[in-house]
Amino acid sequence: MNLLTIETTCDETAAAIINEDLEPLASVVASQEKLHQRFHGVVPEIAARAHLERIMPVIDETLAQANLTLADINAVAVAHTPGLAGSLLVGVSVAKTLAWSLGVPLVGVNHLHGHIYACRLAAGRDIFPCVGLIVSGGHSSLYDCLGPSDFVPLGGTIDDAAGEAFDKVASMLGLPYPGGPSISRCAADGNPQAIPFPRPFLQDSSRLDFSFSGLKTAVRYEIAGPGRPDFSAIEISAQRRADIAASFEQAVVDCLVGKAELAIRKAGRTRLCVGGGVAANRRLRDALQEMADRNQIELIIAPFALCTDNAVMGAIAWEKIKAGSYDELSLDAAPGLIRERV
Ligand code: ATP
Ligand code: MG
Ligand code: FE
Repeated sequence: MNLLTIETTCDETAAAIINEDLEPLASVVASQEKLHQRFHGVVPEIAARAHLERIMPVIDETLAQANLTLADINAVAVAHTPGLAGSLLVGVSVAKTLAWSLGVPLVGVNHLHGHIYACRLAAGRDIFPCVGLIVSGGHSSLYDCLGPSDFVPLGGTIDDAAGEAFDKVASMLGLPYPGGPSISRCAADGNPQAIPFPRPFLQDSSRLDFSFSGLKTAVRYEIAGPGRPDFSAIEISAQRRADIAASFEQAVVDCLVGKAELAIRKAGRTRLCVGGGVAANRRLRDALQEMADRNQIELIIAPFALCTDNAVMGAIAWEKIKAGSYDELSLDAAPGLIRERV
């Protein structure tokens, strides 16, 4: 049985083919990084148009990689929530068209559940229940994950996502988009203790929330002071840039690890699963491992290749298929999270 999975929630056009043993037979990701680079972030209209151009070539390449044709596809899954409306619509429309024309079941999956399911794929066994930490371009959230599609929110960011902060701070430092990898590279030569950036809520054990907006502003003041600076005109030495990048990265890591530790305690779990683009961060991975060892809990972080957006995590659709739960052709793109339990 071959499941075709489609992912177009943000700025990666991706497809994969997964068999019923959750083994990926093929996976293709067409990143739009170069298209959005000069804007230092994803431009929704450009993303939607690029998905439209790329989705069929990406599916063709995926089939070719697996040495299969459309006639060999037994079900089609698509990430239909949450994400950018125009981007989601491309994937959902293509998935519905394929499912209808091939006469195979259609399954809609939640992109955030997929980010945690990447840990399930890496572990090769059941991971539920666990505390889930999703750190990505659009989300920074903690959940008590009771099952693959049953996440109870524990806390999350009250403003920006961690990935968003990486991208904006990179822009202020004159580093390329996406900011996560470029900040990490720059931070390698810096002192993470050089600047004491704020760590919002870290000392407040009554809440499991993050705030990265003020941290962003603190970096901005550190670079340019108050007012409306022209960042491109600011001279900054390589060492100072590295120190700011390292100190910023450390502040983000401290907040994420501190609240993940508190969430484990509050939820009474012994397993922590971490997914999303920011989970690719080396300093975060090391700090999470140190925390997990100290608390004697099991830590599963999505493998590097499955942290940023990909269609392999759409393998979560097999959970629905095996339970006999399919979607109608009325399946719609749902940009925002609509339910209390996601
Ligand atoms: P969401 O999953 O919330 O809808 P998204 O799909 O756009 O958002 P992902 O593709 O999961 O997000 O992650 C992209 C984000 O991950 C970007 O903000 C990027 O800067 C960040 N990122 C990627 N690699 C790293 C890294 N090594 N360190 C820190 N951040 C990183
Ligand atoms: Mg992306
Ligand atoms: Fe994502």
